[in-house]
Amino acid sequence: MRLIFLGPPGAGKGTQAARLVQKHGIPQLSTGDMLRAAVAAGTPVGLKAKAVMDAGGLVSDDIVIGIVADRIEEDDAKTGFILDGFPRTVAQAEALDAMLADKGLKLDVVLELDVDQSKLVDRIVKRAEEAKANGQPVRKDDDPEVFKQRLEAYNRDTAVVAPFYRERGQLKVVDGMKSIDEVSADIDSALDAIEVAG
Ligand code: AMP
Repeated sequence: MRLIFLGPPGAGKGTQAARLVQKHGIPQLSTGDMLRAAVAAGTPVGLKAKAVMDAGGLVSDDIVIGIVADRIEEDDAKTGFILDGFPRTVAQAEALDAMLADKGLKLDVVLELDVDQSKLVDRIVKRAEEAKANGQPVRKDDDPEVFKQRLEAYNRDTAVVAPFYRERGQLKVVDGMKSIDEVSADIDSALDAIEVAG
């Protein structure tokens, strides 16, 4: 199964994608995680991405498309994957189309988590507090001011990606304001209703 999660930062894409990894045995490909790993390792990509990420902006399409193209070539992604945080622009969506078409593959579904943006800052503050309480690192971009920039970037560049897939009949919208378990159950029902390509 090849699936994309769309939705603003803090919508729960990472949490729900991690649950699908367990259920379906396919990897979660989070461009945010990949970029954070590149920053931590000090790679050339990480060096280019760090300042943009710290400011809540979007890393350039070229960089992100390059890392996804490499990642989907890896063995564990051969039978499917869950994209989390990509595509974030129409250019990225078009590049993904071209990558998949090259391999004769197709997307099965695009799931959008629909959320009330006015509630997201509270969610992100909670996520930072929980990480701190669990002794985990707090994401620098989960600072409320940076988070607002991330939401702005979403509304400016990424909100148009869902209509791109809706027009092609690939979009399913799930209410992301319910509890984590309820959202998971709704996602399961949405996935049960689709026919998965080989
Ligand atoms: P995320 O973990 O998905 O919230 O991503 C964290 C940050 O990484 C974003 O705020 C962007 O700076 C960067 N990033 C992640 N994915 C992308 C993408 N597909 N395009 C551009 N920037 C991205």
